[in-house]
Amino acid sequence: MKRSERNDTGFSLFADALTPGPYQCFLCDEEDVIGEDGLCDRCRAKLKYCPNPNYLAPLDGIAIGLQYTDEISSAVMRFKKNGQKEYAGFFTQYLSVPDDWQADILVPVPMHPLKKWMRTFNHTELLASYLSHSTGIPYSSKLLFKTRFTYEQKKLRDPAERRRNIRGSFCCDPLVKGLRIVLVDDVFTTGATVYECAKVLKQAGAAKVYLSAVTSPAH
Ligand SMILES: [Zn+2]
Repeated sequence: MKRSERNDTGFSLFADALTPGPYQCFLCDEEDVIGEDGLCDRCRAKLKYCPNPNYLAPLDGIAIGLQYTDEISSAVMRFKKNGQKEYAGFFTQYLSVPDDWQADILVPVPMHPLKKWMRTFNHTELLASYLSHSTGIPYSSKLLFKTRFTYEQKKLRDPAERRRNIRGSFCCDPLVKGLRIVLVDDVFTTGATVYECAKVLKQAGAAKVYLSAVTSPAH
């Protein structure tokens, strides 16, 4: 069964699990016997979990699910660029929020409103809403904003160039003061975007800023 034919209720990968398979694997797209994680045995065997990469202040902690392989990269593109929203449930299973973070709120890494309009949705908002559903931690997309349109970070190779591109492009609500915040993102690469978000949140008095992301290239 194609993923697009499934009766997707949003929060379960296989809400219609009583319908006989085979189902379409989230990574290789082949129809096969699929586990509850949405993967065939071959793709599951190839999955690499990510040793948590190093991070710097102003971030206070980081949790990454998977290593960024070609298969994961293609799936991320299908999710955010092709608008295949069913990937939100698939990717959320690799997001985590450690208990010792004592998180108050999940905040998706914001997208400029114009870009959101072009793409029709912000994929990180969808991830944060799913993660909120699975952890019980509330989420808000109204605390942190992207106020300036920037080049896609991916198109800039040099880390310094990425930092320059993103600098000064976010602002946040003063309500963040005293909160322990978990930023939610799909891919953690150089971190220029999340460091800038964390800087703005800390300047406004956030107590802690953590990052939970689906995937990162091994550092
Ligand atoms: Zn597969």
